[in-house]
Amino acid sequence: MTSPARGLRSVVVAGASLAGLRAVEELRARGVDGSVTVIGDEPHAPYDRPPLSKQFLAGEWPLDRIALAVAADGGLDALDIDWRLGVRASGLDVEGRRVLLGDGDEVAYDGLVIATGASPRELPGTGDLAGVHTLRTLDDCLAVRAGLDAGARRVVVVGAGFIGSEVAATCRTLGCDVTILEALPVPLGRALGDEMGAVMGELHRDNGVDLRLGVGVAAIEGDGRVERVRLADGSVVEADLVVVGIGVTPNTGWLEGSGLALDDGVVCDATTWVAPGVVAAGDVARWPSHRFAELMRVEHWDNAIAMGEHAARRLVAEHTPGAQPEPYDPVPWFWSDQYDRKIQLAGRSSAADEVRVVDGSTDERRFVALYRRGDRLAGVLSMNRPRPLVSFRRLVERGASWDEALAEAAS
Ligand code: FAD
Ligand code: NAP
Repeated sequence: MTSPARGLRSVVVAGASLAGLRAVEELRARGVDGSVTVIGDEPHAPYDRPPLSKQFLAGEWPLDRIALAVAADGGLDALDIDWRLGVRASGLDVEGRRVLLGDGDEVAYDGLVIATGASPRELPGTGDLAGVHTLRTLDDCLAVRAGLDAGARRVVVVGAGFIGSEVAATCRTLGCDVTILEALPVPLGRALGDEMGAVMGELHRDNGVDLRLGVGVAAIEGDGRVERVRLADGSVVEADLVVVGIGVTPNTGWLEGSGLALDDGVVCDATTWVAPGVVAAGDVARWPSHRFAELMRVEHWDNAIAMGEHAARRLVAEHTPGAQPEPYDPVPWFWSDQYDRKIQLAGRSSAADEVRVVDGSTDERRFVALYRRGDRLAGVLSMNRPRPLVSFRRLVERGASWDEALAEAAS
């Protein structure tokens, strides 16, 4: 088959994970038949990260279950990828259309997909103490699991964001004593807002977590191996294992000096276009959303897929005479599994003027809550109520008013 995208003979994808792989699948599905090189600094073939804080961390799923599946017959091999794994992209020459590699090599491209994701923030001063972890990669997860398998029972989680909340839930389910330390007054406050964050806090407490809010970490201490966490108020929590989940920073270091706009991510236009021949997708990418009137960067699975596919189509459009680039303007969606609860959020929860529970109850932890911005429905949160989430998500997609959403809830 001849590629419909004339001139798109060589594509380079930086980042061998979800956004990058979905971009490659889309390119091949669109008939791009030239060379595709995927550069990934991890040594592994692409795998899925969500199970790393859930089923894989718990030891419920084997390794082969987290490999990223490919829809095409023949799986990964059918994509005919030139893999450069265990190698870092170290620089970018935009004008010369070359990606420089950490091993001294370089790869030329007609089209480049930047999909280098994000890396965990480190807690300053934690040094090289054994038993202190961040959780982003398969290797990180194997290290945490090794600690649990070796008998760690007192687990301290720093940060009650997604990593902290899910690791706490998994470790409680495994029978560990778990303490969460969070600087904010509620867990997941930034993601869900204070009201719904408080509901998450009760969920942890009822499952036996020692949840300490509004506390700062002064030091993590031990003799070679972690023994305790000292809090800013002088109190101490004994620990065999510490998982730090205090957010991520987008992996743009390799793009310094390239001339690309870097500002809490790689800044794209509304179509995922960054520079001539360059698009970006996933956790690393920031783009203007017309729908929500904000510069967005989304750190969730569904966006990595949708944006990876969109970025691939954007490259193809550039090389297809007459094609009009489409804007990327989704309603973001994510899920989080904690204990026996499935939490899902579609749309935006930040900058909400009101949050209203319209179905079920927070006491039962089976409910739907809507987020209002002005007179619009901006987002919907559900706990163990997947069906209504789908219909309210559709309302967010078509820009429904708050009144319309309330009428739907009452029907
Ligand atoms: P990444 O998955 O971060 O991949 C980027 C890849 O690029 C990495 O392999 C990185 O090592 C590599 N890289 C970085 N710099 C370079 C370089 N210079 N050269 C070469 N390679 C480089 N989302 C949900 O919606 N629901 C969940 O339940 C959920 N659970 C999660 C659980 C965990 C433990 C984690 C860590 C994330 C979870 N997420 C979840 C978020 C989701 O996994 C991410 O949004 C998604 O992985 C982003 O995909 P990405 O391809 O953009 O980036
Ligand atoms: P996160 O969700 O951004 O949460 C980080 C939390 O740590 C925030 O509550 C943050 O508060 C707090 N924090 C920051 N600095 C702190 C400090 N010094 N001490 C104590 N708390 C501190 O990030 P994450 O939990 O580390 O997750 C990492 C990435 O994985 C994110 O991109 C996340 O989206 C992704 N992930 C997603 C899922 C999911 O979608 N289900 C699951 C796991 C991981 P402030 O807001 O005040 O900074």
